[in-house]
Amino acid sequence: MTDATSFSLLIDGQAVTPAATLEVVNPATGRVFARCPAAGPAELDAAVAAARRAFPAWRALGFAARAERIARFAELLSSQAETLSRLLTQEQGKPVGQSKEEIARGATLSVGMTKIPIESEVILDNAERYIELRYQPLGVAGIITPWNAPVNLAIGPLTSALYTGNCAIIKPSPFTPLTTLRIGEILREVFPAGVVNVLAGGDELGALMTAHPGIDKISFTGSVATGKKVMASCAGTLKRVTLELGGNDAAIVLEDVDVNDVAKKLFFAATVNSGQVCMAVKRIYAHEKIYDALCVALVAEARKARRDGLDPATTLGPIQNRRQFERVCELKADAARHGQLQEGQAIPAGEGYFVTPTVVTGLAEADRLVAEEQFGPVFPVLKFTDVEDAIARANNTRFGLSGSVWSRDLARAQAVAARLEVGTAWVNQHRLTMANVPFGGAKESGIGRTYAHMGLTAYMEPQVISVLK
Ligand code: NAD
Repeated sequence: MTDATSFSLLIDGQAVTPAATLEVVNPATGRVFARCPAAGPAELDAAVAAARRAFPAWRALGFAARAERIARFAELLSSQAETLSRLLTQEQGKPVGQSKEEIARGATLSVGMTKIPIESEVILDNAERYIELRYQPLGVAGIITPWNAPVNLAIGPLTSALYTGNCAIIKPSPFTPLTTLRIGEILREVFPAGVVNVLAGGDELGALMTAHPGIDKISFTGSVATGKKVMASCAGTLKRVTLELGGNDAAIVLEDVDVNDVAKKLFFAATVNSGQVCMAVKRIYAHEKIYDALCVALVAEARKARRDGLDPATTLGPIQNRRQFERVCELKADAARHGQLQEGQAIPAGEGYFVTPTVVTGLAEADRLVAEEQFGPVFPVLKFTDVEDAIARANNTRFGLSGSVWSRDLARAQAVAARLEVGTAWVNQHRLTMANVPFGGAKESGIGRTYAHMGLTAYMEPQVISVLK
């Protein structure tokens, strides 16, 4: 057991260890393997006060100097990727290769964002008037993250906040606080005191952040239900919000694809991180001509899946926590009552929250596995005859994060993609994010975008300077 004393909160540049603690479970064993300190209202107030004190000097530093600090942070993060990824796997469950990839992506995306210029725009400049649009940092950003990708989902908003001149307070999920606290030690070396603060804590700490008058903006990544509570609470102080919420991504597979090639890609996109990805493929709509062959190829992929804790050959880790494990098992049992399950490589029974990857056929749109976000390696494959029907079924949901269309005919696929009611519609791929491409949800999958100019200026207030000459 790793003792609570080996982790600390970061407040005002100091390592702080209050008496309250959180217990952290390794989902591969189902047992508590570490404790860490937990913040309450006093630590939150101290962090907010520190961030507000640090704000004037940090905003005055300018984009280039802030980008340099972020590059230094990314360098240190990459240099510690080996130890951080082991800790991430222990608390989150994903195979260690996927943990390394998450950390590497965090570093790359954060440096990528600092290459995006945020410039003033001259709207009018004539004999009479000069009108300019500029962007000012907001102040203090609160960053609340979920348990499925705790590093990446903290670093994206953190870089956006810092690069644009804001100070930040990060609160990881109580299920996965440890790697974020360790990253706090790197942040402490790189950034001036108070610029970044890291507070582990439960759901109630998140709620306190959304109501705190000293926080100007909340970046929240998590479930739709909590996202709605966050937005309602932020309304009290009219905080700016970026909400990155859940999805129920459809992949529409047209009749002209190379079935085996597409099956490999779809299986990966549906089951990477054991399906616990907001933009995982969660429903597959396959044309009737290739439906049977695609199901066979997907089941073959599922039979290749391997698990074994920190073993580098592992492709599928456990579900991250007991509550989510029970939910996935419940959705799978419901699917078994209404359709047919084809299971892949059996996950040895025993400790840990492992779920066997499973392809489900014969379900209807109203069945729970189709209608709800499963967040697990069990997914439905549904048949269509007319692509219009596939588009209508894909869009028949309150979710709108992303989706994909698969075909050799790129023009046709692109036309179908454009009709998906989502923030990102991919063609012949699923799950690509880049620093200069905005990502976020339509409908109830979110408000606003992360990455790119659009995502960065969401941490800024537009200000017009209007001069009468
Ligand atoms: P969650 O909503 O339960 O919790 C997310 C975070 O919010 C945690 O830190 C939690 O402590 C905190 N929280 C809980 N109640 C709160 C409240 N009332 N006020 C403020 N904060 C509160 O989500 P989760 O179960 O940790 O994550 C899974 C969900 O996240 C899935 O739906 C997934 O699709 C979504 N997600 C979305 C994206 C995206 O980019 N769109 C990325 C990853 C995950």
